[in-house]
Amino acid sequence: MKFSLSCGDVVPGCVARFESDSRDDVLGQVGAHAVAHHGITELTPDVLRSVESNIALSA
Ligand SMILES: [Zn+2]
Repeated sequence: MKFSLSCGDVVPGCVARFESDSRDDVLGQVGAHAVAHHGITELTPDVLRSVESNIALSA
């Protein structure tokens, strides 16, 4: 099982993709990427909800 997220699903135009077998790990990668590349200093509940709803699960 792999959890994956395309940042572009949350931030239109971004081509970054994250994948891990740990959902928390994907969230951690996204958080670091958001800070470094999108100037987001804090994952607010709204952002987090958007990110979580776009995480895809594949076998
Ligand atoms: Zn991005």
